[in-house]
Amino acid sequence: MSNYNRKPKNSGVKRGKSSYYFTDNESFKIIPLGGMKEIGKNCTVIECRNEILIIDCGFCFPDDEMFGIDVVIPDFSYLRENAEKIKGLIVTHGHEDHIGGIPYLLKEFNIPIYAAPLSMGLIGGKLGEHGLTAETHIIEAGQIFNVGNFKIEAIQINHSIADAMAFSVKCAGGHIVHTGDFKIDYYPLDGKVIDLNRFSQLGSEGVDVLISDSTNVLREGYTPSERIVADSINKIFDSTNQRIIIATFASNIHRIKYFMEAAVNHGRRIAISGRSMENVVALANDLGYLKGIPESAFVDIKSINNIPDSNLTIITTGSQGEPMSALTRMANDSHRAVKLKKDDVVVFSSSPIPGNEKTVTNVVNKLYEKHVDVVLSDTMDVHVSGHACREELRLIHTLIRPRVFIPAHGEYRHLIEHARLAKSLGMSKKNIFVISNGDLIEYRNGKAQVTTEFTSGEDVMVDGYGVGDIGSAVLKDRKQLSQSGLIIIAVAIDEATGSLIAEPELTTRGFIYVKDNMDLIDEATAVVYNTIGEWLERGKKDFPALRNALKDDMRSYIYKRTKRNPMILPTILRV
Ligand SMILES: [Zn+2]
Ligand SMILES: [Zn+2]
Repeated sequence: MSNYNRKPKNSGVKRGKSSYYFTDNESFKIIPLGGMKEIGKNCTVIECRNEILIIDCGFCFPDDEMFGIDVVIPDFSYLRENAEKIKGLIVTHGHEDHIGGIPYLLKEFNIPIYAAPLSMGLIGGKLGEHGLTAETHIIEAGQIFNVGNFKIEAIQINHSIADAMAFSVKCAGGHIVHTGDFKIDYYPLDGKVIDLNRFSQLGSEGVDVLISDSTNVLREGYTPSERIVADSINKIFDSTNQRIIIATFASNIHRIKYFMEAAVNHGRRIAISGRSMENVVALANDLGYLKGIPESAFVDIKSINNIPDSNLTIITTGSQGEPMSALTRMANDSHRAVKLKKDDVVVFSSSPIPGNEKTVTNVVNKLYEKHVDVVLSDTMDVHVSGHACREELRLIHTLIRPRVFIPAHGEYRHLIEHARLAKSLGMSKKNIFVISNGDLIEYRNGKAQVTTEFTSGEDVMVDGYGVGDIGSAVLKDRKQLSQSGLIIIAVAIDEATGSLIAEPELTTRGFIYVKDNMDLIDEATAVVYNTIGEWLERGKKDFPALRNALKDDMRSYIYKRTKRNPMILPTILRV
C-alpha cells in the first residue's frame, strides 16, 4: 500500500469568491520552451487570462554536431506571437542553464526580471556584456509578490549555488509549484535549510501542478550535505604542507567561501585564478557573501611566488577541463603566474558534467605527468551534487501531493523515471505528463490536457551576432568541411567559344597536403580538362550544367582515388 494519500481531508484549492485568485472554470497553460528531454536551456511559460509569466531562460552548450555554434537558446517563437502578454521573468537561480538565455530574451522583449541578489548580480554582468539594461526586482526566499495577476511566492531550497529558490505561482486558473533545481540539505553551509514546512503547507492548501527537477532521479537515496565537502577539505588542509590548488564551479559561492575559511584557519593566503572565478568572487564580496574573510587573506595571483608553499591556496576555474581555463593552462605549462611543482595538491571539487569526461581526464593525466597529487571526487568526498536523489524527490512529492505532475530538468530517461517514481507513490498515470519543448499543458477544473507540438520548441543556435540564422543546411556544410575539407576548382572560360583561357586552378583546404600529393592534383586537373572537353562536345554553352559536371566528376574521381568526400566548389569565370 502506498502511504501517499491522494485525497487528504482538506485537500483541494480553495475556489470561488472567497479567494482573490482562483476562479471556477478558469484555466491556465504551461508551455516549456526548454529543459524538457534535455539538461539545459530551461525556460517555462505559464499563461493565464492573457498574461504570460516566464520562469528561467537558460542556454546550453552545443553538442558535437553543432560545428562553430557558441550556445543554444530556447525558441522564442511563441513569445514573439504573444509579446504583449508577457508580464515578467522570474529566475530560480543563477546557473547558466537558467539565466544564460536572458540577454537574448531581453534583446527582443523589454520585460522586468525578478531574481535573488546573487542571481541578479550574475544576470547584470551578462546584460552589461550585451549592452542591455532591464527593469530589475530583487526578491528573497519567503517573499510574496505579484507579477501581473500572478501571485508568486519564493521558497527556500538548497542547491549548488547561493540564493536558489522554488516558486509557488497562483493565478485564476490554479496553483503551480516549480521546484527549480534543488536538493534537501539539513545543515547547509549557509544555514538556510530548505523550507519543507512551507512545501507541506502549500500541499495542504492544494497544488494543481508540480513541475520538478529530475536530474538525479536515477540515483537511489539522498544527496549528501555540502557539509561533507567541507569536512574533506579540512582533512586535506590538515594533512599537507604543499601548495593546495582547488578547482571548482565559480558559482558555488558557499563552497568557495568554505575553502577560503579553511585556508585562513590553516594560515594560508588565497589566490584566485580564472576570469569567471575572479568575477564571481568580486560579485559575491560586493553582495556580502564572503563576510568574515579578511581582505588581507587574499594575494594577487601574480605575487604568489613570494609566498611559501605551505602558506598558499589557489582557487581556480577549470574543473571541467575547459581548454582555455586556468587549470588546463597550468597543466599545459602555459599559465602566466602558476608553474606546477612536484607534490602540489590539486583538488577537483567537482565531477565531470556528462560530455566533459574526456577533457577532464586529459587534464588529470597531464597533472599526473607533472607528479602533482591529484584528489578527485571518486576517491574523496570533495564534491556533492546539487540535485535531489530519489528519496528527496519522494519527500517533495509526498509533501506537495499535486493533482498533476510534470517532470522537468532531465533527459528523456530522467523524465520517464521521474514519472514512474510519481506513479509508484500513488499518482494516476493520466495525471503525469512527460512532455517536449513546445508542447502545451492546459489545466482546467482539476484536469490537464496535453497538445503536442503546440508551438515551435526547437534548438535556436547562436553563432557570433547571429541568432537562429544557422540551420541544418549550414551545419551539414560545416560538418563536411570539418571532416573532409574543401576543394575549389577555378576555371576561366571564353564566353563566346566556350574554351578555356587559362589553366584550371585547384585549391584545397583541410583535404590533403598539396606539396606531398602533386600527382593527385595533376590527375584532378586532368579530370577538369576532361569535363570541360565533354561539355564542349555537347555543344551547348550551358554554364550551370558545367558547374554541376565539374562538381560530380571531381567528386567521383576523388572518392575513387581517396575514399574521401570533401566539399567541392567550382567557380567559373566567364570572360
Ligand atoms: Zn542549477
Ligand atoms: Zn539547472
